[in-house]
Amino acid sequence: MHDEATGLKPLEATGLTPLEVIGLKPLEVIGLKPLEVIGLTPLELGALMPRDGRPSPTRGKALWRWLREEADVPATTWPESLPELGRNALSELQRHVALPDVVIEERYVSRDGTIKWRLTCRGRPIETVMIPTATRATVCVSSQSGCTRWCDFCATARMSFGGQLSAGEIVAQVLLARRAATVPLTNVVFMGMGEPLDNFEAVLTAVRVLDEGVGIAPKHCTVSTSGVLPRMIDLWERSRASLALSLHATTQELRDRLMPRVKRWPLAALCEWMRAASEAPLNGAKPRHFFIEYAMLRGINDSDADADRLVALMAGIRARINLIPFNASDGLPYGRPDAERIRAFQHRVIAGGLLTIVRETRGDDAAAACGQLAVGRAG
Ligand code: SAH
Repeated sequence: MHDEATGLKPLEATGLTPLEVIGLKPLEVIGLKPLEVIGLTPLELGALMPRDGRPSPTRGKALWRWLREEADVPATTWPESLPELGRNALSELQRHVALPDVVIEERYVSRDGTIKWRLTCRGRPIETVMIPTATRATVCVSSQSGCTRWCDFCATARMSFGGQLSAGEIVAQVLLARRAATVPLTNVVFMGMGEPLDNFEAVLTAVRVLDEGVGIAPKHCTVSTSGVLPRMIDLWERSRASLALSLHATTQELRDRLMPRVKRWPLAALCEWMRAASEAPLNGAKPRHFFIEYAMLRGINDSDADADRLVALMAGIRARINLIPFNASDGLPYGRPDAERIRAFQHRVIAGGLLTIVRETRGDDAAAACGQLAVGRAG
């Protein structure tokens, strides 16, 4: 009775319920709202729609195809029927999982084609941005409603914290952007609202679901962090997702001022770990590099001395530097260096041997640029 093709055992041989097979307790027992269908992989959904007592990857994949290609986004109604599934399987599934509770509140389209959505997830406000180029699109997703890291130059820090998003709510944002894009949506960046590593399991689950359900590989998902070191290590070990560190300062003193809620993980410790991880890729796997985000703040962190310190800090680290010209938002007491200063800084870092790009500002007129996401302020 062992399925040769999939290696899956019949359920009764495991003595487990379908939910236990995918590592979950029945919802009635843990008293949670139902799981969201788009927070589960095709295989997990297949375990919840067994055929002849066995998990059915075919059914799971068929349902995911429907979710991806046909369902409304955000999906609010189940299909009447799906030929590959049959009514029983669908109604069995509906006992365990729900469609996500995501509502589109507003949609803004920028002159450059960037689209920003204001959404509510279970009533909590978030924002999502789709950024197209001529050939492909990237979606910038939120991982929390608001954030508790309170970086001094970030608009999200000024709104109140609304809580964690579920994996399904993260995936819903990607499906929304994917459907709206006129070019293939190939990349996901966790650079919307929130500190993704403060919502670690949901983010990791979303990365897995995006891989298996949507076809976006982990390496095309970039998780950006203010520097939650223990979770950076976990992410590096448990996932092939790309990691971006928001550095923004080259001295501990300045970093503490700009990013007071990540003092616990000093620059020296962050760099030491990145250096070690750069040297020894796990089990002979291809070496991976880190992205370093550096918001350029006029007169604060944009001097030649800063550029030189940045180069020195990055010694031995496989790093790609992204300079983000500061994006102004009401009430943020910082300014953007002029283009010449940014270019000089970039060239100095490049001369120091580091691949360095200046991130183009997109979606500015829709208040959709980096660091402008804050419901009620930037909308
Ligand atoms: N919490 C995550 C994701 C934040 S948003 C993190 O800290 O990495 C993605 C990037 O935009 C971060 O590097 C963040 O520091 C930066 N950012 C925030 N506000 C900005 C602003 N006003 N101008 C430019 N970049 C900003």
